[in-house]
Amino acid sequence: MRTQEIIVKARRPNPRLVKIHRNYTVEEIAKLFGIHKNTVRAWIKTGLPLCDDKRPVLILGRELAAFLQAKRGNSKQPCQAGEMYCLRCRSPQKPAANMVDYQPSNDKMGNLIGLCSCCEAVMNRRVSLAKIPLIKGEMEITFPQAEKHIGDSNQPSLNSDLRGVS
Ligand SMILES: [Zn+2]
Repeated sequence: MRTQEIIVKARRPNPRLVKIHRNYTVEEIAKLFGIHKNTVRAWIKTGLPLCDDKRPVLILGRELAAFLQAKRGNSKQPCQAGEMYCLRCRSPQKPAANMVDYQPSNDKMGNLIGLCSCCEAVMNRRVSLAKIPLIKGEMEITFPQAEKHIGDSNQPSLNSDLRGVS
């Protein structure tokens, strides 16, 4: 029963549970949302600010609420076609000049990288190659080398003389 509860709560910690005028320890935050302390530590690693560097670590309620709100905002405001999520603006933005680079992580997935047209921060959007036509919008996407592979090497010309490659 307890495990179930943890899963449900861990998905969407409600920022409204946070009292903004008090400080929280990692343990208290974990208890508040019924999540593991490591989840809270992961939040700290991904940008949840600490009060100071004293022990035990304290987090301002105000900062915690803002952090969770941003996290929610992130999932509530999905990017439209042609947009990427800007962490600094905390909202989807168009890339400057609609120019983005595609950086493949493997055959199927990669990152779109562009500069925010609003604040010029670097924005990333993780995409699967197959979905690019759907999210492309007005973006001009530059593919490094990838086009060559798709065009040329799919059908290696076995007929040609192998030594002729040089
Ligand atoms: Zn921005």
